[in-house]
Amino acid sequence: MASGQTSSVEVTRALLDRTAAVDEQVHAYLHVDGEGALAAAADIDARRKAGEQLGALAGVPIAIKDLMATKGLPTTAGSKMLEGWIPPYDATVVANIRRAGLPLLGKVNMDEFAMGSSTEHSAFGPTHNPWDLDRIPGGSGGGSSAALASFQAPLATGTDTGGSIRQPAAVTGTVGTKPTYGGVSRYGLVALASSLDQAGPCARTVLDTALLHEVMAGHDPMDSTSIDAPVPPVVEAARRGDVKGLKIGIVKELTGDGYQPGVLARFNESIELLVEAGAEVVDVSCPNFEYALATYYLILPSEASSNLARFDAMRYGLRVAPEGIASPSAEQVMAASRDAGFGDEVKRRIILGTYALSSGYYDAYYGSAQKVRRLIAQDFDAAFTQADVLLSPTAPTTAFRLGDKLDDPMAMYLNDIATIPANLAGVPGMSLPSGLADEDGLPAGVQILAPAMADDRLYTVGAALERALTDRWGGPLLAQAPELTAKGA
Ligand code: GLN
Repeated sequence: MASGQTSSVEVTRALLDRTAAVDEQVHAYLHVDGEGALAAAADIDARRKAGEQLGALAGVPIAIKDLMATKGLPTTAGSKMLEGWIPPYDATVVANIRRAGLPLLGKVNMDEFAMGSSTEHSAFGPTHNPWDLDRIPGGSGGGSSAALASFQAPLATGTDTGGSIRQPAAVTGTVGTKPTYGGVSRYGLVALASSLDQAGPCARTVLDTALLHEVMAGHDPMDSTSIDAPVPPVVEAARRGDVKGLKIGIVKELTGDGYQPGVLARFNESIELLVEAGAEVVDVSCPNFEYALATYYLILPSEASSNLARFDAMRYGLRVAPEGIASPSAEQVMAASRDAGFGDEVKRRIILGTYALSSGYYDAYYGSAQKVRRLIAQDFDAAFTQADVLLSPTAPTTAFRLGDKLDDPMAMYLNDIATIPANLAGVPGMSLPSGLADEDGLPAGVQILAPAMADDRLYTVGAALERALTDRWGGPLLAQAPELTAKGA
């Protein structure tokens, strides 16, 4: 675009055509805003023509996760509860993205209220993995990862409370970063668990991810947990991509038993490539990570049950009249509405969280979980005295089949075993493709973790590893994905 070879309108139109051709099979989008995207693209083209100095991503279209408030565009968080809601304002990240001149292609699918690892909990039907349409694209941000992997969008936004940016990236051969907690504003995002939620960038390359990270991040007075400090130099780091002299810690507790052999093989190959590129590898142990999943599934439901209490059918959202009651009380309307508006997984977590917070059990469950959370953060602190970054597989397996884990919450929860510690401690993490697992030929992901506010280290290491891996593959991993063609074409 900058050199005049193409225009934002041309690119946007091509992406909209692609969506018209393939999204019937993938179902990445819940809402496409062709008209709005083309208008924004035309505006950027005109400004470029007039000689205005524009940012690196000006004119590059983007897909937005459907829990980010977008002025004038529906925002459902994957729930019937919010169906038909059109926000009167933009989330700060969305405002930042619009200001940087990125046309919004539309809103992409997700597990209801971001609870899940497969996008099957969306009230509007699942998204399919472009590598194999019978498999899950990860979750909760499966719409984002599938839109990228099926070339319906070059950039997407995500949110990561326990892995919802990184795990979808891993199972679709794409890249995603969960920034340091407080590095990106939460204002205008439908809240899941406020002390864990963090919005971040999703893309197909490490540099693209860094460019979007820079656009999304920064201090926001509208978010009380926003960090008032300069955004780490992520773009510079992604351009440099150098690991010479860096110490990389391999977390003992995040490999081995329970990980698919092909995922581990690709992980070990990544370690070898980093050593070849000049990094030093050390083994580190984080003994309390063993309790991360249990801790998360007390803290998350507790916060979620509190956050979701606002959907009471009185102020906004779905309102359902209880059947067979002539003049129902407010409480009867609330109960009927919450019964109709929330899906099974959301109800499960509200019940769990309400129980964990109840007066008789608060200390035993929520209180204990907060203490273990501190121990997990201390494990990170200790590990980062031995290593500059930590490395692990992102998810224990490649994409599983749709339906396989839907009736087994525990199996679903185990997908996030390697990603959850970072959310509990507030540290940043990235997932990038490590290659195809031998057993099934599906993409696996490698996770990089860094200390809080050292997000740039993710990009230094990620870019170096991506370069070494793409040299080995002879091009990007997604070039090996099967071609999607329009139904009947
Ligand atoms: N899969 C995890 C969960 O179900 C993570 C969700 C998220 O990061 N939003 O809670």
